[in-house]
Amino acid sequence: MSDELCIQASDFDSLKAHLLGAAEERCAILFASQSKRSDGQIRFLVREVDYPTEAEYSRQGELEAELKPALVARVSKHAKINGLSLIFVHTHPGDRPPIFSPVDDRGELVLSDFLKSRLGSGENASLVMSNGGVRARILGQHDELRVVVVGRRRAVVFEPGLDGPSTSDMFDRQVRAFGAAGQQRLADTRVAIVGLGGTGSIAAQQLVHLGVRRFILIDPDIIEVTNLNRVVGATAQDVGAPKVAVAARYIRSFSPDAEIATWQGDVVHDVTARTMIDADLILLCTDSHGSRSVVQQVAYQHLIPCIDMGSTITQSDSQITGIFGRVQLLSPGLPCLWCSALLDAEQVRRDMMNESERRLDPYIPGSREPAPSVVSLNGTVVSLAVSMLLGVVAGAPFDATHLIYNGQASSLRSVRGEARSTCFICSRDGALAWGSNRQLLTRRD
Ligand SMILES: [Zn+2]
Ligand SMILES: [Zn+2]
Repeated sequence: MSDELCIQASDFDSLKAHLLGAAEERCAILFASQSKRSDGQIRFLVREVDYPTEAEYSRQGELEAELKPALVARVSKHAKINGLSLIFVHTHPGDRPPIFSPVDDRGELVLSDFLKSRLGSGENASLVMSNGGVRARILGQHDELRVVVVGRRRAVVFEPGLDGPSTSDMFDRQVRAFGAAGQQRLADTRVAIVGLGGTGSIAAQQLVHLGVRRFILIDPDIIEVTNLNRVVGATAQDVGAPKVAVAARYIRSFSPDAEIATWQGDVVHDVTARTMIDADLILLCTDSHGSRSVVQQVAYQHLIPCIDMGSTITQSDSQITGIFGRVQLLSPGLPCLWCSALLDAEQVRRDMMNESERRLDPYIPGSREPAPSVVSLNGTVVSLAVSMLLGVVAGAPFDATHLIYNGQASSLRSVRGEARSTCFICSRDGALAWGSNRQLLTRRD
């Protein structure tokens, strides 16, 4: 599994706008954290983009550009102070997918020796871009990096071992049809489903039928008699079995070769939360405020798009007063659940308590009434979420990022929110793109 370079869509658009189309070759410096997966794979997550000034180039021609030592000293100091890796970006002329040149090879060796002396042994990278695409590798080596752009879509713009993507793939993702390429993306994308209850169990079924083949299934619970009306795939014989095992059995019955990792645990715990870092996309199918706050932090901090979904039936005097469903994409550039006023800080605080803290806390109410849940409403919400996933992964033209379903009115509404520029989760001042460089706000008991 090759390592990965992950760039937020707004940064990728900025790079294209600043660097391409100029007569002379240009450069940029990216500062990246690292996200470390359980199999040792490293993902470089771009946090900041720096454009050298004219005065910081020592040479700048049509076919080459060279940066002054003072610039290299400046950016390596910034990287060292913040514990970040450096990624050197330069352009090549023309419309063909770029290839590193012998000049690039020699320059990188010098640069990489210098950085080793300045920054120690941490890996750095380089990226070359033209009008025809991009290519990236570990600095001074031939190990190429997958390049993934994450925002409203998750687009793989360079895959090592394959020819670079065509211009239309890279620059016209919006219009790319959900065809053979989209199908391959579905098979390649590792999807974590957090919560295998009323919504997650349906999501697992839809995904395997669509051709998703790599799963991480996370849920602490076992099947209970009261779940049987809505956990699809579960039978009376499954009472007492882990929900993740029931979902895995369904996936295998349809796709015996599927790659399935199951984890029976609650994502509010650090060891469970970290299993999500192995995913390329997360479906958030739990309803506790604590679990949703942890999952969305993983999504923004590790640049893994996440689709949150839920349904609510409100009642008064045993009369139904409202039937609602919600589906929301949580990804760089889009507001998080805090910015959308969809998390309650007090409930998050309680969900994050360990058992002894819980006993001492005077504000814990009695166990909550089980929320009403109906399989048909869950099915509606999951179908909307899975269609949104097709947009994110396969480029299908599902453009909404936040949907509200009103069952009584039979209406579906696309809503748009604003991310707060100083949010502690989804902004650059917050957890965004810090990867494994920072801890998660989780329970460690
Ligand atoms: Zn070059
Ligand atoms: Zn936010």
